[in-house]
Formats: sequence, structure tokens, C-alpha cells
Amino acid sequence: MKSFLRSINPFSLLARRMSPLGRLAVGLVSLTVCLLLMLDFTLGLFPDRVAQAKPLRQAVAQGLGAQVALVLPSESKTLVSDVITQAQLRTPELRSVAIRTLASQSAGAGNMPPWLEIGDHAKYWEAPANDRSTINSIRVPIMAGAQQWGVVELGFEPVTPKTLFGWLKEPVILGILSMGTLGGLAFYLYLRRALQFLDPTNAVPERVRAAFDTLSEGLMVIDTKGLVVLVNEAMRNLLPANQKHLNGRGAASIPWLTESLGADPALYPWSRAMRENRVITLEAFVAGADSKGQKRHLVLKANPIVDNREQTRGCILTFDDVTQLQQVNEKLKATLKALETSKAEVQNKAVELQRLASRDPLTGCLNRRSFFEALDVMRKAAGDKQQNLTFVMCDVDHFKSFNDRFGHAVGDQVLQIMAKLLQEGCRESDLLVRMGGEEFCIAFRGMSLVQARERAERIRQSIETRACVMLGNPQAQRITASFGVATLPVATVEPKQLLELADQALYASKRGGRNRVTTWPFAQEQEEEFDAMPV
Ligand code: GH3
Ligand code: MG
Ligand code: MG
Repeated sequence: MKSFLRSINPFSLLARRMSPLGRLAVGLVSLTVCLLLMLDFTLGLFPDRVAQAKPLRQAVAQGLGAQVALVLPSESKTLVSDVITQAQLRTPELRSVAIRTLASQSAGAGNMPPWLEIGDHAKYWEAPANDRSTINSIRVPIMAGAQQWGVVELGFEPVTPKTLFGWLKEPVILGILSMGTLGGLAFYLYLRRALQFLDPTNAVPERVRAAFDTLSEGLMVIDTKGLVVLVNEAMRNLLPANQKHLNGRGAASIPWLTESLGADPALYPWSRAMRENRVITLEAFVAGADSKGQKRHLVLKANPIVDNREQTRGCILTFDDVTQLQQVNEKLKATLKALETSKAEVQNKAVELQRLASRDPLTGCLNRRSFFEALDVMRKAAGDKQQNLTFVMCDVDHFKSFNDRFGHAVGDQVLQIMAKLLQEGCRESDLLVRMGGEEFCIAFRGMSLVQARERAERIRQSIETRACVMLGNPQAQRITASFGVATLPVATVEPKQLLELADQALYASKRGGRNRVTTWPFAQEQEEEFDAMPV
């Protein structure tokens, strides 16, 4: 029964809906109002209107009685009415006046109309008990000489209000109501601000705090409004010196915490954790600097706190300091990067070395060793396809005398030009080698003797016409070269034998006057016969 009554009691309902802050404010307002009422009771804080009105009304009544007594000998009602109207003008709260003769007042004549009545006397006049005047109804005698002629009855506006609205306009009630409203608001705002800075850790049992302090992880508990309720020892150690006192502060207003979280508090991990009711983890959370000025790298976990009724009551934030791990990782990454760079450098160097080892440094052509290595591959490919192998031997004419005349350095330039022009006459798959001194050789595959001869002839012509121009020395003598070409199906001949044949052809060119191409076999008929062979 009691609980039922409590459940329908509006005050009980209001109290249950009200926040503790609201209840505190209401309590303080009630206390203030009680204090005001006590002060009023003992010291008369608010004016007593009855006490103020009483002497005034008595004086008005006495005065009116005396004035009426003065004009009565004439017994002119008009004159008496004027006196009363004048009195009403001076005292607006005087609402009705009646004059009764002594005869009309005597016993048995109670229902007789008064000698004169002004205003709604029936409404305002309340016949006082025991003939004693009240604050609203005052009766004074009218004397005619030593004899009493009659009485004047004065009906005043009631001093104390009769209706609820009237009471509300009373200064005391108005004072209490306005004090209550304004005071309540002021108390609420003040308490809200003051309670922020109260230390809520006092509300957390000492042993719970001690347990939290033993954790190596930083821990912060916030309420549903995001206000910090508890910070453990490890967390305080993470914070800079000027931000260690966080209790009662909004987590979103802590710069250390929000520095890397962006501008929208709705997206902060604890807001999301409480809204979505799940654990939110930020692996790479960079908080502000600690008291030593070092930025901390943390793993932030926001765990919502949910009570038995599935209501979110706040959030526990844990901060796992991974700064050292991060630093080691960064170092490791830097080392790996350096390793990769040096690996690439080593690879480049190896390629370069390989190139240098396989090339002639002056002309960039293959050297003998790498030529014979590459020739093995070419031979195999030609063998697979039953193709011809061709060697074109080339030797600069009268190079010794050129060297003697223009110097060894110019001779080197001629060798470089030779290599360039020979290379232009080669395909991607052909091999160009500097055999030694001013002697070069090209290896082709899949070419007939005639095709090879044409190719050698084109190269010869380009040397004859361009080499001297490329050297840029107008006084230099004509630069020419002699060629020897030998072609055989790869299956029928060893490379060394074929080289020997090409060399013989070259020797024939030299003997024949230089600056020419000679093929092996030398006879035309034999050439044609060879040319008829498959390539
Ligand atoms: P031929 O027309 O009969 O071939 O006459 P040649 O003078 O070219 O023949 P020879 O073999 O007698 O001379 C080759 C010369 O090449 C000898 C040498 O001084 C020169 N020589 C060899 N290697 C180099 C080199 O790397 N640089 C320079 N500048 N000259 C070189
Ligand atoms: Mg030579
Ligand atoms: Mg020569």
C-alpha cells in the first residue's frame, strides 16, 4: 500500500526523475525558504500589512466620525455624503460607509435601514462580534454634544486576500516564490560547476583505487557525460605535469588526449564505445607529450561500462604504452630500408661488374672470354634450327702507321668509332667482339653467305665514308678496314675452324689491296654452291 502511494505521489515521481544535482538544488532552496520564513517570524523581514493598516484605518474612522458629528446638526444627508466622498477620495481602500442613528441600532431595530449608506455596504461590512471593530470593519460613535447620536460603520478593502490569486500577489509569497525560482536556478548552476571540481575519487573506495594503481596500463574511467571519474597512477605518469588533475574534467576537453583524435567529439573512441556499446581499439594512437616532452605512442581501448539493466554507465579507457616498441620498430624499418638500398646497390654493382668483366673497356664490345661463352649459346640455338653460323672478321687498314702519325690516343678514338659503326651493322641477336688490337669479329646466325657478304659490305662502306668524319680530324688519312666472311651450317663446322676460315678470307682482302670484303670459299662457283645451302 505504502509503495503504491509512493508510486502515485507526484513529489516522489519528481524526485525519482530528478538528477542528484536537481535534488540537491531543491533541498538548498527549501532550506533557504525556511530560513527566510524564520527570519520573517523573528525579525519581521516582510512588512506586516495588518499592523501597518490598523492605525491608519482607525485614524480615518475617528476623523470621519468627528467630521460627521460636526455637520449633523443640519441633518443634511447631502452634506454628510460629501464629507464621506471626500474621505473615500483620500482613502481609496474605504469601500463603504453607513450611518446609523442610535434608535436604529437599539435592540429590535436590527433590520432597519441605515440613516445613510454609501458604497456596497452589504459586501464590505462584516458586523464585528462583541461590537469590537476589526481591521476591515470599524465602527465609531457619532457624538452630539455629550449624547451619542449614532454610529458610523466603515467597510474597508480586506487586508488579507481571500482568493489564491490574491495570495499569490502578496509580497511574502511573491518574495518566497521568486527567491525559490531564482535561488533554485542559481544553486543548480553553481552546484553543477562546483561538483565538476570535486574529487570524485573520494567516492571510489580506497582499495579499488589501490588495485587500479597496481596496473601497469594507464586507466581512466569516465561517466556517460564524458567527465573523468578516476585516473590511475600509471595514467598520471603518462600525463604532462600541467594536466595531471583530470578528475571532473570532460575527456573531450583534455588536449593531451584529443591532440590526434580530430575535431569531432562524437567520433572519439569513448563516445563511439558508449554509443555502439562495444570495445573500440585504436592501435596507433599518438597522445600528447609526457612530462619529459616525449610524444607517447599508445594502444587505446575504450570499454563501455554496462549495468545489470543494460544501461551504459560510463567507459573505461586503457592506455598501453608502446612508445619503446614503436621506436624499436621504426629503427628496424630504417635498418631494413637501408639493407634493401644496399642490396639494390650491390645488385647494381654486380651487374656493372659483370658488364665490365664481359666487355672491352675501350670499345664496349664483348671481350674474347664472354664472346666464346655467348657463342656457345648461339651455336646451340643455330644447331636446334639447323642454321648457318657466320663470322665476319674485320681489321683496320694500316693502323700502325695511323698510330705513328696521329698518336695512340687518336688511334684509340678510331677504335671506338670502328666499334660504333660495326655495332650499327649488327642485329640485337648478333655478337660483336674485339678480338685484340684493331681486330674485330661479328657472329651471325641464320644468314646465307650472300646476305652476310652484303652486310659486311655495308659496314665497310660506312667505315670508309663516315669514320674519318666522325673523328673530326680533316688532316687524318682515310680510315678503312678489310673484311673476311665465312659461313657454314653449324652442324658441319667447329667455331674455331670457321674463325680460321674467316681469318683466311680477311688475309685475302689484305693481300688483294685492303678496304674490301672477301668471302670463303673464294671461288664464285663455290660461293653460289654454298649459297644454295639452307640457312
Ligand atoms: P695492316 O693493314 O696490314 O693491318 O697494317 P697494320 O698496321 O694495321 O697492321 P699491324 O698488325 O702491323 O699493326 C697493328 C697495330 O695496332 C699495332 C699497334 O700499335 C696497334 N694497336 C694495337 N692495339 C692498339 C690499341 O689498343 N690502341 C692503339 N692506338 N693502337 C693499337
Ligand atoms: Mg692487325
Ligand atoms: Mg691492321
